Amino acid sequence: MANRTVRFAICNKRFAISCLTRRAHAILTLSRLIWTYLDLFLTSHPMINKVTKTDEQWRKELSPEAYEVLRRQGTEPAFSGPYDQTTEPGLYRCAGCGNELFLSDSKYDAGCGWPSFVAPADQSHVELEADNRYGMERVEVRCSRCGGHLGHVFDDGPGPTGKRYCINSVALTLDPKK
Ligand SMILES: [Zn+2]
Repeated sequence: MANRTVRFAICNKRFAISCLTRRAHAILTLSRLIWTYLDLFLTSHPMINKVTKTDEQWRKELSPEAYEVLRRQGTEPAFSGPYDQTTEPGLYRCAGCGNELFLSDSKYDAGCGWPSFVAPADQSHVELEADNRYGMERVEVRCSRCGGHLGHVFDDGPGPTGKRYCINSVALTLDPKK
C-alpha cells in the first residue's frame, strides 16, 4: 500500500514537471515569436525606431570617413568609394544604423563617381531636405532612422522615376545577397 502511494506520488511529480516544462516551452516559443514580429515591425518602420546618439558616440563608432559624410555632411572624393563601380547583388544599408536604404537592382552607373540609384528600397527609409549650401540648390538625402547625411537626389536619372540618388559609398554597407 505504502509502495503504491510512493509510486503515485512519483507519478504525480513527474506529471507536474512535464506540465511545467511544456508550459515553459510554450512561453519561450511565444516570446520568441513576439520578438521576431517586433523586430520585423521596427525594422520596417525606421520613423518609429529612431537612433539618436551624441556626436561623441558617432565619432567613436564610425570610421573617420563615414563620420565626415554621415554626421558632418561631407562628400567623399569622386571615384574613390568602394561601391562606385560594384555590381554585386545585395542590399545597401546605412553605415550608421543599418537601415535598409537601397537595393542593388536600382543601382546604375551614372558615370559621376558615386554609387547611383533610381529609387530607395522604401521611400520612408530616407528623408529629403532642401540644401542650399555652396550657392547650389540641391535636395539632400538623409537616413530616416539616424538622420545621417547620405548624399543628394537629382532629376537627371533614367527610367520611370527620372531620379538619380547620388550617394556616398562610405555612408553605405553592402549586405551581399545569399
Ligand atoms: Zn542611418
